[in-house]
Amino acid sequence: MGEFELIQRYFTRPTPRAVLGVGDDCALLQPAPGTQLAISSDMLVSGRHFFADTDPYRLGHKALAVNLSDLAACGARPLAFTLALALPQADPTWLEPFANGLLALADAHACELIGGDTTQGPLNICITVFGEVPIGEARGPGLPTTLALLRSAAQVGDDIYVSGTLGDARLALETLLGHVALDAAGLVQTRLRLEQPRPRVALGLALRGVANACADISDGLLGDLGHILQRSGVGARVDTSIASEMLASVTLAAASGAKGCLSQQQRLAFVLAGGDDYELVFTAPPARRVEVAQASQASATPVTRIGQTEPRPGRRLVDAHAASLAKPFPSFDHFAPGAASD
Ligand code: ADP
Ligand code: MG
Repeated sequence: MGEFELIQRYFTRPTPRAVLGVGDDCALLQPAPGTQLAISSDMLVSGRHFFADTDPYRLGHKALAVNLSDLAACGARPLAFTLALALPQADPTWLEPFANGLLALADAHACELIGGDTTQGPLNICITVFGEVPIGEARGPGLPTTLALLRSAAQVGDDIYVSGTLGDARLALETLLGHVALDAAGLVQTRLRLEQPRPRVALGLALRGVANACADISDGLLGDLGHILQRSGVGARVDTSIASEMLASVTLAAASGAKGCLSQQQRLAFVLAGGDDYELVFTAPPARRVEVAQASQASATPVTRIGQTEPRPGRRLVDAHAASLAKPFPSFDHFAPGAASD
Protein backbone atom coordinates (compact mmCIF):
# COMPACT_ATOMS: atom_id res chain seq x y z
CA MET A 1 0.00 0.00 0.00
CA GLY A 2 1.46 3.35 -1.06
CA GLU A 3 1.27 6.64 0.83
CA PHE A 4 -1.63 8.00 -1.18
CA GLU A 5 -3.66 4.82 -0.99
CA LEU A 6 -3.08 4.79 2.76
CA ILE A 7 -4.29 8.39 3.14
CA GLN A 8 -7.26 7.70 0.88
CA ARG A 9 -8.26 4.50 2.64
CA TYR A 10 -7.88 5.49 6.29
CA PHE A 11 -7.82 9.24 6.61
CA THR A 12 -10.03 10.72 3.90
CA ARG A 13 -13.59 11.42 4.96
CA PRO A 14 -16.37 13.87 4.19
CA THR A 15 -15.74 17.23 5.88
CA PRO A 16 -19.01 19.17 5.74
CA ARG A 17 -17.88 21.82 8.24
CA ALA A 18 -14.60 22.62 6.50
CA VAL A 19 -14.46 24.59 3.25
CA LEU A 20 -11.86 22.11 1.95
CA GLY A 21 -10.56 18.88 3.48
CA VAL A 22 -7.93 16.27 2.55
CA GLY A 23 -6.49 16.26 -0.98
CA ASP A 24 -5.17 19.71 -1.78
CA ASP A 25 -2.03 21.51 -0.63
CA CYS A 26 -3.95 23.19 2.17
CA ALA A 27 -7.24 22.61 3.93
CA LEU A 28 -9.54 25.62 4.30
CA LEU A 29 -11.49 26.54 7.42
CA GLN A 30 -14.06 29.29 7.83
CA PRO A 31 -14.51 30.26 11.49
CA ALA A 32 -18.04 31.53 12.22
CA PRO A 33 -18.47 35.32 12.36
CA GLY A 34 -17.57 36.70 15.78
CA THR A 35 -15.30 33.77 16.64
CA GLN A 36 -11.57 33.20 16.89
CA LEU A 37 -9.60 30.04 16.11
CA ALA A 38 -8.11 28.22 19.11
CA ILE A 39 -5.14 26.11 17.95
CA SER A 40 -3.08 23.52 19.79
CA SER A 41 -0.65 20.68 18.95
CA ASP A 42 0.32 17.60 20.91
CA MET A 43 2.76 14.90 19.88
CA LEU A 44 2.79 11.29 21.08
CA VAL A 45 6.11 9.47 20.68
CA SER A 46 6.33 5.68 20.90
CA GLY A 47 8.28 4.54 23.95
CA ARG A 48 8.01 7.98 25.47
CA HIS A 49 4.27 8.65 25.76
CA PHE A 50 2.95 5.14 25.17
CA PHE A 51 4.14 1.54 25.04
CA ALA A 52 4.90 0.43 21.47
CA ASP A 53 2.35 -2.40 21.77
CA THR A 54 -0.51 -0.18 22.99
CA ASP A 55 -3.86 -1.18 21.52
CA PRO A 56 -4.06 0.88 18.29
CA TYR A 57 -7.77 1.74 18.71
CA ARG A 58 -7.03 3.26 22.12
CA LEU A 59 -3.94 5.00 20.81
CA GLY A 60 -5.96 6.65 18.04
CA HIS A 61 -8.46 7.78 20.66
CA LYS A 62 -5.79 9.12 22.99
CA ALA A 63 -3.87 10.99 20.31
CA LEU A 64 -6.93 13.11 19.60
CA ALA A 65 -8.19 13.17 23.21
CA VAL A 66 -5.07 14.91 24.55
CA ASN A 67 -5.52 17.60 21.90
CA LEU A 68 -9.24 18.03 22.56
CA SER A 69 -8.32 18.40 26.22
CA ASP A 70 -6.36 21.54 25.32
CA LEU A 71 -9.41 22.95 23.54
CA ALA A 72 -11.49 22.09 26.60
CA ALA A 73 -9.07 24.02 28.80
CA CYS A 74 -9.62 27.08 26.61
CA GLY A 75 -13.40 26.68 26.47
CA ALA A 76 -13.15 26.21 22.70
CA ARG A 77 -15.57 24.18 20.60
CA PRO A 78 -13.76 21.56 18.46
CA LEU A 79 -13.86 22.23 14.74
CA ALA A 80 -11.15 20.30 12.89
CA PHE A 81 -7.73 18.67 13.19
CA THR A 82 -4.70 17.64 11.17
CA LEU A 83 -2.73 14.42 11.65
CA ALA A 84 1.03 14.15 11.05
CA LEU A 85 1.95 10.50 11.24
CA ALA A 86 5.29 8.67 11.10
CA LEU A 87 4.79 4.90 10.73
CA PRO A 88 7.36 2.08 10.68
CA GLN A 89 5.24 0.27 8.08
CA ALA A 90 1.83 0.50 6.40
CA ASP A 91 0.22 -2.34 8.36
CA PRO A 92 -3.58 -2.53 7.84
CA THR A 93 -4.05 -4.56 11.03
CA TRP A 94 -2.67 -1.56 12.95
CA LEU A 95 -3.95 1.27 10.74
CA GLU A 96 -7.57 0.14 10.65
CA PRO A 97 -8.17 0.11 14.42
CA PHE A 98 -6.00 3.23 14.89
CA ALA A 99 -8.14 5.17 12.40
CA ASN A 100 -11.33 3.77 13.95
CA GLY A 101 -10.38 4.91 17.47
CA LEU A 102 -9.27 8.30 16.22
CA LEU A 103 -12.32 8.94 14.06
CA ALA A 104 -14.86 7.62 16.59
CA LEU A 105 -13.73 10.30 19.05
CA ALA A 106 -13.57 12.86 16.24
CA ASP A 107 -17.20 12.07 15.34
CA ALA A 108 -18.28 12.28 18.99
CA HIS A 109 -17.01 15.86 19.04
CA ALA A 110 -17.90 16.79 15.44
CA CYS A 111 -14.20 17.47 14.86
CA GLU A 112 -13.19 16.87 11.23
CA LEU A 113 -9.90 15.42 9.96
CA ILE A 114 -8.94 17.98 7.30
CA GLY A 115 -5.33 17.11 6.44
CA GLY A 116 -1.93 16.05 7.64
CA ASP A 117 1.28 14.41 6.58
CA THR A 118 2.33 10.77 6.36
CA THR A 119 5.87 9.44 6.36
CA GLN A 120 7.81 6.27 7.09
CA GLY A 121 9.70 6.35 10.39
CA PRO A 122 9.56 5.44 14.08
CA LEU A 123 5.93 5.61 15.29
CA ASN A 124 5.10 9.23 16.08
CA ILE A 125 1.67 10.87 16.10
CA CYS A 126 1.32 14.63 16.00
CA ILE A 127 -2.13 16.21 15.92
CA THR A 128 -3.04 19.87 15.62
CA VAL A 129 -6.59 20.79 16.63
CA PHE A 130 -8.57 23.85 15.67
CA GLY A 131 -11.45 25.07 17.79
CA GLU A 132 -13.78 28.05 17.83
CA VAL A 133 -14.18 30.52 20.64
CA PRO A 134 -16.21 33.74 20.67
CA ILE A 135 -14.51 37.12 20.69
CA GLY A 136 -15.10 38.73 24.09
CA GLU A 137 -14.08 41.55 26.35
CA ALA A 138 -10.56 41.44 27.78
CA ARG A 139 -10.73 40.03 31.31
CA GLY A 140 -8.03 42.37 32.56
CA PRO A 141 -5.35 44.82 31.49
CA GLY A 142 -2.94 43.24 29.02
CA LEU A 143 -5.23 40.25 28.37
CA PRO A 144 -6.56 39.49 24.88
CA THR A 145 -10.12 40.25 23.75
CA THR A 146 -11.53 36.75 23.90
CA LEU A 147 -14.02 34.58 25.76
CA ALA A 148 -11.38 31.81 25.80
CA LEU A 149 -10.37 30.60 29.25
CA LEU A 150 -6.75 31.62 29.82
CA ARG A 151 -4.08 30.42 32.23
CA SER A 152 -3.23 34.06 32.88
CA ALA A 153 -6.62 35.31 34.10
CA ALA A 154 -6.81 34.05 37.73
CA GLN A 155 -7.59 36.76 40.28
CA VAL A 156 -6.59 36.92 43.94
CA GLY A 157 -9.33 35.33 46.08
CA ASP A 158 -10.60 32.97 43.36
CA ASP A 159 -11.78 29.51 44.34
CA ILE A 160 -9.75 26.68 42.79
CA TYR A 161 -11.60 23.67 41.37
CA VAL A 162 -10.70 20.35 39.78
CA SER A 163 -12.98 18.20 37.62
CA GLY A 164 -13.50 14.44 37.98
CA THR A 165 -10.93 12.30 39.78
CA LEU A 166 -7.14 12.17 39.59
CA GLY A 167 -4.44 9.54 39.85
CA ASP A 168 -5.92 6.57 38.00
CA ALA A 169 -3.76 6.97 34.89
CA ARG A 170 -0.62 7.00 37.01
CA LEU A 171 -1.89 4.04 38.99
CA ALA A 172 -2.32 2.08 35.75
CA LEU A 173 1.12 3.11 34.51
CA GLU A 174 2.83 2.10 37.74
CA THR A 175 0.96 -1.21 37.66
CA LEU A 176 2.02 -1.89 34.07
CA LEU A 177 5.60 -1.04 35.01
CA GLY A 178 5.35 -3.56 37.85
CA HIS A 179 5.80 -0.98 40.62
CA VAL A 180 2.32 -1.42 42.07
CA ALA A 181 0.08 -4.45 42.43
CA LEU A 182 -3.54 -4.00 41.43
CA ASP A 183 -6.23 -6.62 40.89
CA ALA A 184 -7.34 -7.41 37.34
CA ALA A 185 -10.59 -5.43 37.53
CA GLY A 186 -8.75 -2.41 38.94
CA LEU A 187 -6.21 -2.53 36.15
CA VAL A 188 -8.90 -2.76 33.47
CA GLN A 189 -10.61 0.29 34.92
CA THR A 190 -7.54 2.47 35.48
CA ARG A 191 -6.04 1.46 32.17
CA LEU A 192 -9.08 2.96 30.46
CA ARG A 193 -8.25 6.28 32.12
CA LEU A 194 -4.64 6.00 30.94
CA GLU A 195 -5.33 4.85 27.41
CA GLN A 196 -8.72 6.37 26.59
CA PRO A 197 -9.02 9.64 28.51
CA ARG A 198 -12.25 11.58 28.03
CA PRO A 199 -11.53 15.23 27.29
CA ARG A 200 -13.70 17.62 29.33
CA VAL A 201 -14.93 19.60 26.35
CA ALA A 202 -18.49 20.07 27.65
CA LEU A 203 -17.26 21.44 30.98
CA GLY A 204 -14.84 23.83 29.27
CA LEU A 205 -17.67 25.22 27.15
CA ALA A 206 -19.96 25.56 30.18
CA LEU A 207 -17.25 27.46 32.09
CA ARG A 208 -16.93 30.19 29.47
CA GLY A 209 -17.83 33.47 31.13
CA VAL A 210 -17.86 31.75 34.55
CA ALA A 211 -14.29 30.64 35.26
CA ASN A 212 -11.44 33.13 35.30
CA ALA A 213 -8.52 30.83 34.51
CA CYS A 214 -8.32 27.22 33.35
CA ALA A 215 -5.77 24.59 32.33
CA ASP A 216 -5.99 20.88 31.60
CA ILE A 217 -4.11 18.48 33.85
CA SER A 218 -1.65 16.56 31.72
CA ASP A 219 1.48 16.79 33.88
CA GLY A 220 -0.11 16.54 37.34
CA LEU A 221 -2.39 18.85 39.33
CA LEU A 222 0.32 20.75 41.20
CA GLY A 223 2.35 21.38 38.07
CA ASP A 224 -0.56 22.51 35.93
CA LEU A 225 -2.07 24.63 38.70
CA GLY A 226 1.44 26.08 38.99
CA HIS A 227 1.20 27.23 35.36
CA ILE A 228 -2.00 29.15 36.14
CA LEU A 229 -0.48 30.74 39.24
CA GLN A 230 2.71 31.73 37.47
CA ARG A 231 0.98 33.17 34.42
CA SER A 232 -1.54 35.03 36.59
CA GLY A 233 0.99 36.34 39.11
CA VAL A 234 -0.85 34.89 42.13
CA GLY A 235 -0.24 32.17 44.72
CA ALA A 236 -2.54 29.52 46.17
CA ARG A 237 -3.52 27.53 49.19
CA VAL A 238 -4.58 23.97 48.42
CA ASP A 239 -6.31 21.73 50.94
CA THR A 240 -4.60 18.40 50.38
CA SER A 241 -7.00 16.51 52.64
CA ILE A 242 -9.87 17.50 50.35
CA ALA A 243 -7.64 16.66 47.40
CA SER A 244 -6.86 13.16 48.59
CA GLU A 245 -10.38 12.40 49.88
CA MET A 246 -12.48 13.82 47.06
CA LEU A 247 -10.21 13.56 44.05
CA ALA A 248 -8.90 10.02 44.44
CA SER A 249 -11.07 7.50 42.59
CA VAL A 250 -12.61 4.51 44.32
CA THR A 251 -9.98 2.29 42.71
CA LEU A 252 -7.13 4.44 43.92
CA ALA A 253 -8.58 4.64 47.43
CA ALA A 254 -9.05 0.85 47.50
CA ALA A 255 -5.53 0.28 46.26
CA SER A 256 -4.16 1.85 49.43
CA GLY A 257 -6.63 0.06 51.71
CA ALA A 258 -7.34 -3.63 51.96
CA LYS A 259 -4.58 -4.66 49.58
CA GLY A 260 -2.00 -2.48 51.25
CA CYS A 261 -0.38 -1.69 47.90
CA LEU A 262 -0.35 2.04 48.31
CA SER A 263 0.49 4.14 51.31
CA GLN A 264 -1.48 7.29 52.08
CA GLN A 265 1.52 9.28 50.86
CA GLN A 266 1.72 7.44 47.56
CA ARG A 267 -1.99 7.95 47.00
CA LEU A 268 -1.62 11.67 47.60
CA ALA A 269 1.34 11.75 45.21
CA PHE A 270 -0.74 10.06 42.51
CA VAL A 271 -3.53 12.62 42.99
CA LEU A 272 -1.34 15.72 43.19
CA ALA A 273 1.31 14.82 40.63
CA GLY A 274 0.18 11.69 38.79
CA GLY A 275 0.04 12.99 35.25
CA ASP A 276 -2.04 11.97 32.20
CA ASP A 277 -5.30 12.79 34.00
CA TYR A 278 -6.82 15.17 31.39
CA GLU A 279 -9.13 16.74 33.92
CA LEU A 280 -9.51 20.54 34.17
CA VAL A 281 -8.16 22.76 36.96
CA PHE A 282 -9.81 26.18 37.01
CA THR A 283 -10.42 29.24 39.14
CA ALA A 284 -13.61 31.29 39.60
CA PRO A 285 -14.64 34.07 41.98
CA PRO A 286 -16.51 32.88 45.12
CA ALA A 287 -19.47 34.99 43.89
CA ARG A 288 -19.85 32.50 41.03
CA ARG A 289 -20.18 29.29 43.02
CA VAL A 290 -23.77 28.78 41.86
CA GLU A 291 -22.76 29.23 38.22
CA VAL A 292 -19.87 26.77 38.65
CA ALA A 293 -22.31 24.23 40.10
CA GLN A 294 -24.63 24.84 37.13
CA ALA A 295 -21.76 24.37 34.66
CA SER A 296 -20.85 21.13 36.42
CA GLN A 297 -24.43 19.92 36.21
CA ALA A 298 -24.99 21.05 32.62
CA SER A 299 -21.89 19.16 31.50
CA ALA A 300 -22.51 16.15 33.79
CA THR A 301 -18.98 16.61 35.13
CA PRO A 302 -18.32 16.56 38.88
CA VAL A 303 -16.08 19.34 40.20
CA THR A 304 -14.41 19.70 43.60
CA ARG A 305 -13.30 22.94 45.26
CA ILE A 306 -9.81 22.39 46.63
CA GLY A 307 -8.48 25.80 47.60
CA GLN A 308 -8.16 29.50 46.92
CA THR A 309 -5.76 31.86 45.21
CA GLU A 310 -3.80 34.33 47.33
CA PRO A 311 -1.63 37.40 46.72
CA ARG A 312 1.57 35.72 47.94
CA PRO A 313 3.26 33.78 45.10
CA GLY A 314 3.79 30.04 45.42
CA ARG A 315 1.69 27.04 46.42
CA ARG A 316 0.88 26.28 50.03
CA LEU A 317 -0.44 22.83 50.82
CA VAL A 318 -2.36 23.46 54.03
CA ASP A 319 -2.62 19.92 55.32
CA ALA A 320 0.25 19.66 57.81
CA HIS A 321 0.89 16.07 56.86
CA ALA A 322 1.14 16.97 53.18
CA ALA A 323 3.10 20.19 53.52
CA SER A 324 6.30 18.25 53.81
CA LEU A 325 5.34 16.24 50.72
CA ALA A 326 5.19 19.23 48.39
CA LYS A 327 8.79 18.97 47.19
CA PRO A 328 8.96 15.31 46.11
CA PHE A 329 6.04 15.79 43.69
CA PRO A 330 7.48 17.65 40.71
CA SER A 331 5.31 17.51 37.62
CA PHE A 332 6.72 15.85 34.56
CA ASP A 333 9.26 17.84 32.60
CA HIS A 334 10.74 15.96 29.67
CA PHE A 335 13.98 17.87 29.80
CA ALA A 336 14.46 17.88 33.55
CA PRO A 337 17.56 15.96 34.68
CA GLY A 338 16.52 12.38 35.38
CA ALA A 339 13.02 12.86 33.95
CA ALA A 340 11.13 9.57 33.82
CA SER A 341 8.36 9.29 31.27
CA ASP A 342 5.10 11.07 30.70
P1 ADP B 1 2.11 17.67 0.32
O1 ADP B 1 3.03 16.89 -0.53
O2 ADP B 1 1.59 18.91 -0.29
O3 ADP B 1 2.61 17.83 1.73
P2 ADP B 1 0.81 15.25 0.76
O4 ADP B 1 1.05 14.57 -0.51
O5 ADP B 1 1.71 14.96 1.92
O6 ADP B 1 0.79 16.79 0.47
O7 ADP B 1 -0.66 14.98 1.24
C1 ADP B 1 -1.72 14.93 0.33
C2 ADP B 1 -2.99 15.30 1.02
O8 ADP B 1 -3.25 14.35 2.03
C3 ADP B 1 -2.94 16.66 1.73
O9 ADP B 1 -4.22 17.26 1.61
C4 ADP B 1 -2.65 16.29 3.16
O10 ADP B 1 -3.20 17.26 4.03
C5 ADP B 1 -3.38 14.96 3.28
N1 ADP B 1 -2.76 14.06 4.27
C6 ADP B 1 -1.52 13.53 4.28
N2 ADP B 1 -1.34 12.72 5.33
C7 ADP B 1 -2.51 12.71 6.00
C8 ADP B 1 -2.97 12.07 7.18
N3 ADP B 1 -2.20 11.24 7.90
N4 ADP B 1 -4.23 12.33 7.58
C9 ADP B 1 -5.02 13.16 6.90
N5 ADP B 1 -4.67 13.79 5.78
C10 ADP B 1 -3.42 13.57 5.32
MG1 MG C 1 3.10 16.23 2.83
